[in-house]
Amino acid sequence: MARLLEGKPIAEKIKEEVRRQAQSLKNKPILASIQAGENAGAAAYVKSQQKIAFDLGLDYQLHKLGQDTTESVLIEFIKKLNADKSINGIIIQMPLPGQIDYKKISQFILPEKDVEAIHPANIGKIIFGETKMLPCTPAAVMELLKETGVDLYGKEVVVVGHSEIVGKPLALLLLDKFATVTVCHIGTSKAGKLEEHVKKAEILIVAVGKAGLIKGEWVKEGAIVIDVGINRVEGKIVGDVEFEAAEKRASWITPVPGGVGPLTVTMLMRNLVEAAKLQQEP
Ligand code: NAD
Repeated sequence: MARLLEGKPIAEKIKEEVRRQAQSLKNKPILASIQAGENAGAAAYVKSQQKIAFDLGLDYQLHKLGQDTTESVLIEFIKKLNADKSINGIIIQMPLPGQIDYKKISQFILPEKDVEAIHPANIGKIIFGETKMLPCTPAAVMELLKETGVDLYGKEVVVVGHSEIVGKPLALLLLDKFATVTVCHIGTSKAGKLEEHVKKAEILIVAVGKAGLIKGEWVKEGAIVIDVGINRVEGKIVGDVEFEAAEKRASWITPVPGGVGPLTVTMLMRNLVEAAKLQQEP
């Protein structure tokens, strides 16, 4: 039976360190958050970010823009925040209104203030292992792996999902630790090869958004399973892996909810303090 790999206790330890570092800075770090339009999911996320920021002694400024905000208005707004020396980090809440292209917009955030590490310059730095500001979800997964004590060197790691915010940057972080990384995606499934790859995984990380995609019997005996997926099924939140069957085979497994989720906002705040430190250095 697998040991449960919970995010909350790890998040608490990291928060302690973030709080300590924030206190040692000359000015309180400020995160500017832009929310364009009304969305229940974004509103809930903002609330949780706000709560954690204040709890850590950080400032959180919410800027609400209308549903009809145009790309050019949003770009001008971002530029204003870029130029404001008191602001250390900028985050754009998703989803954005349909007329705004997130990929285009995110490139206008100054890389030094890009606390989600989504700017091409920051993604590029990951390739060279040069940055402490990592994308939040991949960073959360790396913290969970660290907690298991596993040595990633030479390990067979399978990542299912190749999005720009999770799968792709995560694969780079794992390579940096000399893991042997296989990245699966919709093409792998369509080719009927997902099961064959998953079965090889000593470490399995799934970030797709499809409940029950990974069958419990595919999980290798003793594997570490990290389930990033979030799905609502019959009013309950579940991951992408068949939890009950997988937990009988794995050595460690993350619960959903309670695994990756509690760590991601903590990673965001760690990035904010990291950004503030770099900006405040003489
Ligand atoms: P995305 O939609 O951008 O990417 C989905 C990925 O899954 C793609 O690579 C796609 O090719 C792959 N895919 C789709 N169907 C597949 C199939 N049948 N077989 C294999 N691969 C398949 O998603 P995302 O933004 O990376 O998010 C993935 C999941 O992780 C979602 O459920 C999301 O809610 C969740 N998520 C959770 C957190 C967290 O903090 N816990 C953070 C980010 C995302």
